[in-house]
Amino acid sequence: MSDQVQPLSPYAAKRIHGLQKNMWTEYAALALRTKSTNLGQGFPDFHAPDHVRQSLATATTSEKGRALNQYTRSQGHLRLVNALAKLYSPVYGWEVNPLTEIIVSVGGYGSLFYCIQSFINPGDEVVMVEPFFDCYDPMVRMAGGTPKGLPLVMKPGATSSADFQLDLKMLEEAFTEKTKMFIFNTPHNPTGKIFSRSELEQIAAMCVKHDVLCLSDEVYEWLVYDTSPPHIKIATLPGMRERTLTVGSAGKTFSATGWKTGWTVGPPELIRCLASVHGQSMYTCPSPLQEAVAEGLELEMSRLGTPECYLTSLAAELKPKRDWLSKELAEIGLTPIIPEGGYFLLVDAEPLGLNLPEDGRPEDCRFVYWLAEEKGIAVIPTSPFYTKEHEHYAKKVVRFCFCKEDSTLEKGAEKLRRWKASL
Ligand code: PMP
Ligand code: GLN
Repeated sequence: MSDQVQPLSPYAAKRIHGLQKNMWTEYAALALRTKSTNLGQGFPDFHAPDHVRQSLATATTSEKGRALNQYTRSQGHLRLVNALAKLYSPVYGWEVNPLTEIIVSVGGYGSLFYCIQSFINPGDEVVMVEPFFDCYDPMVRMAGGTPKGLPLVMKPGATSSADFQLDLKMLEEAFTEKTKMFIFNTPHNPTGKIFSRSELEQIAAMCVKHDVLCLSDEVYEWLVYDTSPPHIKIATLPGMRERTLTVGSAGKTFSATGWKTGWTVGPPELIRCLASVHGQSMYTCPSPLQEAVAEGLELEMSRLGTPECYLTSLAAELKPKRDWLSKELAEIGLTPIIPEGGYFLLVDAEPLGLNLPEDGRPEDCRFVYWLAEEKGIAVIPTSPFYTKEHEHYAKKVVRFCFCKEDSTLEKGAEKLRRWKASL
């Protein structure tokens, strides 16, 4: 059998965007081939907390495993939805019903897929804040919808993720009578932006005015570095509870991206639709993982407000890494854009003045290949986080991931220093 990628049929080509090229596959392969220090794909290289790893082992190997190694409730393992309801009720300010307002999925990805599949039909437009987590675009197309990018505007000389701003006029213009859904992500991948209350109010006003669903991807909800701006759930704004689906991820919460356990919280009428898609496709999610995440959340809830609570201690642990890496990058002449949340850091490579040969790819992609192939450092370009139409907004900005052991970050920085010294 040939390993050549066959062209898509015209039918598929119209709907499926990115079938042949997945950016994570491409850039993971680049990191591997070049044996680079991997500061690209977003996954921690340190251990998940001991207690969740222990819970997973117990869930499968103890007597509990007799039941837990089998199927569990389709919409979500009871212990997990109960833990999530208990965790989120005080955050939302209302009693979240564990049986009707939560659904568990295969990662945040699964939740995004169910939300989009459930509500987007051919002809529907979906407004998505750019840069966006890349899978939103193909998921909307797979459902037959039309993605409409709404770029955040980067202030010239940006030094903070807050310098990426929503333009009110562009926001208003993005909505049409065909708009069915608005998708955004806060804290934001890749910029680290945390949407301010006034920006959330502007978004909410448009969603209410046009009777549009809001898909709020909050997988980095606990990774907030400063008290201001706080992370606010858009579902809590007036008129938004009944139209918002909020996505979370255990992979991000517990530094265990391989666990692929996520969830959506939303009103019962909408969650019922997701449950239908889920019930007829995946049916249920792995029981032992859900048990371990539930047990982990129960323990963390008992520690809330203490320095031991992982929900907040992870950000405290990552903040010095963010600051250290920013300083190192600034010293070699890259301009860091300090993130307010998440675990990514953008840098503008423009000041380096590199003139890499034109080859049809955007400048940030060429820079990423050059950095891996010539300097042994793997990072992620930002142009794949835009629609083709708005790709130029990426400029020469690339993404570093700092949820790594200090020794990994030091290895990357050492390579950058050596390069700088050789100039
Ligand atoms: N949304 C965003 C913004 C992400 O960065 C990711 C990456 N993991 C996901 C969703 C998917 O989450 P999961 O790994 O739980 O599927
Ligand atoms: N969310 C992660 C990132 O942005 C990885 C996603 C993936 O590998 N598919 O790096």
